[in-house]
Amino acid sequence: MAYLAIYRKYRPVSFDKLIGQQHIVRTLTNQIKFDRVSHAYLFTGTRGTGKTSAARIFARAINCLHPVDGNPCNECVVCKELVKQNSMDIVEIDAASNNGVDAIRDLREKVGYMPSVGKYKVYIIDEVHMLTDSAYNALLKTLEEPPKHVVFILCTTEVQKMPATILSRCLRFDFKLVGIDELNSLMSGILDDVGVEYTKEAVNAVAAAGEGSVRDALSVLDRCVAFAEGKLEYNDVLQILGATDKNKIYQLAEAIFTRDVAGVLELVDSIAKSGKSISVLAKDIAVYIRDMLICQKCQNPKQILTLPEDIYQKLVEQSQKYDQNRLLFALDVFNKVEAELRYAIDPRVTFEVACLKVANDDRDEKIVLLERRLAQIEKNGVLPRQTKAVMPEQTNEQIHNKDYAQGRMVWARVLKQVRNSDSFVLSSACQDMDNMYVCDGDFVLVVNEAQHVLLTQTHHNKTLGDIVFAESKLNLKLVKTAEKRSTVQDDLKDLQHLIGKDKLKIV
Ligand SMILES: [Zn+2]
Repeated sequence: MAYLAIYRKYRPVSFDKLIGQQHIVRTLTNQIKFDRVSHAYLFTGTRGTGKTSAARIFARAINCLHPVDGNPCNECVVCKELVKQNSMDIVEIDAASNNGVDAIRDLREKVGYMPSVGKYKVYIIDEVHMLTDSAYNALLKTLEEPPKHVVFILCTTEVQKMPATILSRCLRFDFKLVGIDELNSLMSGILDDVGVEYTKEAVNAVAAAGEGSVRDALSVLDRCVAFAEGKLEYNDVLQILGATDKNKIYQLAEAIFTRDVAGVLELVDSIAKSGKSISVLAKDIAVYIRDMLICQKCQNPKQILTLPEDIYQKLVEQSQKYDQNRLLFALDVFNKVEAELRYAIDPRVTFEVACLKVANDDRDEKIVLLERRLAQIEKNGVLPRQTKAVMPEQTNEQIHNKDYAQGRMVWARVLKQVRNSDSFVLSSACQDMDNMYVCDGDFVLVVNEAQHVLLTQTHHNKTLGDIVFAESKLNLKLVKTAEKRSTVQDDLKDLQHLIGKDKLKIV
């Protein structure tokens, strides 16, 4: 099948075809019917919700010779003229482009000219929040005293960035995210129209991928139509989206909730090897856990989820096995990790830590279970031999604030740099450290008295701090251990023995 560019072909040409924004359409068409057109409009909302389409329709409707119920007829000479790309009377300015300032200056010069065919000249300024201050000022002057024949439609995805002086002069419309049912019927309508067969589950997956944006959903649909051979199936859509096979996700969830650490690591490995992106995987597992919660809590999950029968059955069965609190905790962790992944140095390890965090949600010794993976990363034996975690006594609440797993990951990287630094003192001081965590933007290292002395008196804590910052963008904080396992003197003597009497003097 030839490439269709569905987004272009099915761009709405009248308000009737604009989906999901009935509240806006009603007001706009009424303004046309009762001839109460304003001079400045602000259309705001997420990308792909129809702002520019609505602006173009509105621009034709207010000029149309025979408007039908507030819609442009799209037949008269004016409509036909205005629909042309280079129409003089509808000027589209992209404020995000480099020549935004020039375009506004040009606008000020030409705004006095009468429209060439219709009653109004319409300026549509896209991404208006991107205008520079000087461009805003120029625009403001025009908005203050607009000629009678001019209408401005300002479109933006980030209304909070707009100056109040502009906002106060515009009639504002907030475009909503489009509901999945509306996206669903739009998609099926288009597929019927182009003559492609489909399953209900496939179309639902396309609509869900749009996440409220018509443009995004149509772009997925475009790729699906080009990809599918014959009937469009659920699995075709997953493949287009680069999403993970639901059976694999099912297995991963099972491994996580049965606390099968080895299973988790093996599955992540096999999914990563199949070329799936870790961030898509994180999203997929979050959606899956949300679906589990829907199965547990909702009256008619089947209708809400629209999944293929076999996948649905497995999901229901699985969701009944696990406690709601565990699922909520998991959802929370995976939602957060999605954001963290954007900045992660090693996304895969970050994701694995998240999985293990969930797997060990009611145990304190999470860290111990990370050792297997850490050993894998640190192939050259950078980690000290004894990696037994010594946890101070604390309440569960405190454990939640301190991220030991993350601390461990950072430490593994830091230690590698310390070994490379050729500083014997630093490297000795860092030996056998096994209590570290991340807390409130700090990387906290719990040190014994001797390690503390060694790091601070030799100013190696500064070097270590730099390394920590370079590896993790966190600040180093040294905390002396509360442990009274051995005396300070003992520790110091051990160290002296280790690095030599000439390098460390006990006073
Ligand atoms: Zn017309």
